[in-house]
Amino acid sequence: MPSVVVEAIREAGVVGAGGAGFPTHVKFAGKADTVLINAAECEPLLHKDKEVLREYVDGVIEGTVAGMELVGAGRGAIGIKEKYVQVIDLLRKKLPKSIDVAPLRDAYPAGDEFILVYDVLGRVIPPGGIPLAVGAVVMNVETALNIAQANARPVTEKFLSIAGAVAEPVTLRVPVGLTLRECVEAAGGPTVPDANYIVGGVMMGYLEKNHDALVDKTTGGVVVLPDDHIVVRRRRQDWQTIVRIGRSACDQCSFCTELCPRWLLGHPIEPHRAMRSLEFNLVGESNVIGTAYCCECNLCSLYSCPEDLDPKNVCTQNKRRLAQEGRRWTDPPFNPRRPELHLENRKAPMARLMHKLGLTQFWNVGPLVDSVLPADRVGVKLKQHIGAPCEPMVQPGQRVHVGEVVGRPPVKDGKPALGAPVHASLDGVVVEVADGVVWIERQ
Ligand code: SF4
Ligand code: SF4
Repeated sequence: MPSVVVEAIREAGVVGAGGAGFPTHVKFAGKADTVLINAAECEPLLHKDKEVLREYVDGVIEGTVAGMELVGAGRGAIGIKEKYVQVIDLLRKKLPKSIDVAPLRDAYPAGDEFILVYDVLGRVIPPGGIPLAVGAVVMNVETALNIAQANARPVTEKFLSIAGAVAEPVTLRVPVGLTLRECVEAAGGPTVPDANYIVGGVMMGYLEKNHDALVDKTTGGVVVLPDDHIVVRRRRQDWQTIVRIGRSACDQCSFCTELCPRWLLGHPIEPHRAMRSLEFNLVGESNVIGTAYCCECNLCSLYSCPEDLDPKNVCTQNKRRLAQEGRRWTDPPFNPRRPELHLENRKAPMARLMHKLGLTQFWNVGPLVDSVLPADRVGVKLKQHIGAPCEPMVQPGQRVHVGEVVGRPPVKDGKPALGAPVHASLDGVVVEVADGVVWIERQ
């Protein structure tokens, strides 16, 4: 009997805490030889995974072992940047023989699970595949911790880094449903007027205009940036501008493709050819169908392109259109030898990326404050995961306690839809259920 059963993980509402929000219990349906913990944390200025690992090393190991038991894996590995020497030393003292440390270079996107699987296991996940296709299950550090705790309590708290233009960059532990503004204030508040919030990281995150947006189980961090910062200006560029500039300035140098991590893995994504979908010339057929294999890492737009064009958004626009039209290669071309040839020497060093993005001016730390941030009101979103939104299980006026289920995935034909239940993160009274949010106030 495994130490944590799949049903407990489902009931605890555990989902991928690294940003994707995939319901974790589903990952344990198959068999794998390795469970890989993703502690690569390659988004500039974010520190929460390393901090959680330092503070909760026993819990993360326990969750890794539980995952290994569930999929029958004989090996576990923790992929972490080699520069975090102290945390690696701590891990080496604590890890059982079946789990090892896999030190990673300080490059972007080390935390992309396809890159991580290749770097640690030397296996290439085929285009459109998942780690299970090559015998691996990948989990975020915080997800592993949540698995370890699943028998005792559901997911009602979130760790997140607050970074950039704030008085004291920090990693916070907060109740799910707090506002981003409250988190930023807990980091001493913005140090610039007209602060902008980039949620989830400067590379793959998004510009959140609503500073009262709610923390959910996938929120990894907020980077506060001034209004005129290059990252903010790039995020504000509208599609018409992207098309107009891209059409006139792309010289088909192909740097975007030559440095694309998924192309380097041998996948059929070629952003320079996708740029031809902007119809700026007749230099050849555009490869838009390959955009289905873009992981949206943003490296091409924010690092590789010497003209500061936006191949990533060209890829994602095409990718969405193709998905709507149901167009996809059934047997995508794949060159599994390409990574041995090029991947190692074409990684984007973090120091260069930080410099290019104008981030070196910020204090690059995020120590953990381990006491839960107090709250008087939280908004628990009914959709915090990939899959169907939960249906509310509570009504206004009802008293709830931390950990009580307030929403569950809908049941269709006797089976729950893909998703995970959500739980109260505050002792109090439900004051409103509206627009997909259960509001709870301390009373
Ligand atoms: S790197 Fe920039 S200029 Fe070069 S092909 Fe790609 S989008 Fe065009
Ligand atoms: S965002 Fe650009 S670099 Fe990243 S996978 Fe897509 S095409 Fe490649």
